Amino acid sequence: MLIKRKSADASRGKLQAALGGLSSGVMDRRSFLRRSGLVAGGLAVAGSIQIGAVRKAEAAGFGPATGTKVVKNICTHCSVGCTVKAEVANGVWVGQEPAWESPINRGTHCAKGASVRELVHGDRRIKYPMKLVEGQWTKISWEQAISEIGDKMLEIRAKSGADSAYLLGSAKFSNEGAYLFRKFAAFWGTNNVDHQARICHSTTVAGVANTWGYGAMTNSYNDIRNAKTVIFMGSNAAEAHPVSMQHILAGKEINRANVIVFDPRMTRTAAHATEYVRFRSGTDIAVIWGMMWHIFKNGWEDKEFISQRVYGMADALKEIEKYDPKTVEDITGIPEAQLKRSAETFAKVKPATFIWCMGVTQHTVGTANVRAICTLLLATGNVGGMGNGANIFRGHCNVQGATDMGLDVGNLPLYYGLVEPLR
Ligand code: SF4
Repeated sequence: MLIKRKSADASRGKLQAALGGLSSGVMDRRSFLRRSGLVAGGLAVAGSIQIGAVRKAEAAGFGPATGTKVVKNICTHCSVGCTVKAEVANGVWVGQEPAWESPINRGTHCAKGASVRELVHGDRRIKYPMKLVEGQWTKISWEQAISEIGDKMLEIRAKSGADSAYLLGSAKFSNEGAYLFRKFAAFWGTNNVDHQARICHSTTVAGVANTWGYGAMTNSYNDIRNAKTVIFMGSNAAEAHPVSMQHILAGKEINRANVIVFDPRMTRTAAHATEYVRFRSGTDIAVIWGMMWHIFKNGWEDKEFISQRVYGMADALKEIEKYDPKTVEDITGIPEAQLKRSAETFAKVKPATFIWCMGVTQHTVGTANVRAICTLLLATGNVGGMGNGANIFRGHCNVQGATDMGLDVGNLPLYYGLVEPLR
């Protein structure tokens, strides 16, 4: 990220070529080492080292050993979904590489991903059913565990009813696992089934689905590099979703994208911003309505998009009217000029995307926060194209799939409603 703006055009070509090489998978590790060998040779000549002392680098010895299988999977530690190549010998996970061919991680892992093998090899991993017997954890057989737990559950249901049980699934389940878990709860006789989305993005699902029909991120992590303006709110991706940052930083370089970070704290993500906007925690709605006040007052809204695609914007405007600059500055602490500048950039320098995370959703008004952001995206016509949209960074590898498949107390698989007429 060291390009000088004045030499942008010349340098952009080189950078794009370099990044293109990486993304197309041309520069694999072997080619990298081979090219490094040529560079080493060049340096040796420059340093007047005797020609005979320099030899071409050999790339032999890399890659899985004979008899080792490479199994592709994804890192489970966040929703970026970096591809992991596990090297397996005699059924033992012996090595790990990030995948160069993945368009998401492009040969990289963060520290969390690099340690994913620990999940399998960790000393504390429970490998067998264990039962606390007279204060000692004791290994028991699967048959004993299943029949003892089953008997106990039947006893509880007979005594207290099916709704006395609560089944907690996981955002790390596969789609199939989530669906089966939901079925298990239904056969058991209860709707008490949920997973981590309850405390992370369940408000996002409700807010986005109630605005435009389906509660999910609209674009993909690597599409963000096409954006010309990126807003972060309630997201510290540099720490929580580290590999995603390569796409944001590439967009910042290649498109000269504006990166506007709204956060009460100066985070590591904010350190990469072109504009950092500090605001009072919990005032997200006032921030968004305040931006829209400037957008509509100055005619920066996307009139064609609104007339063709949006229903009910006039109702939103009645609410937005109340958020004049003075009121918004009092509520949020953001100076009028800074909020106006951010609003103008988001509305005019397109495509623009809005990224949010727990800082938006974990509020008593989380769903309303999300609906306000979606309304801003619709008002500026920033939905449905490359480089724009709602980029909602989830916490685990399959929060979306687990919610889609019914691990959510609020709906049945594929969002069929629980209320009789909606089924
Ligand atoms: S960015 Fe997320 S998915 Fe990628 S390696 Fe790190 S924790 Fe794993």
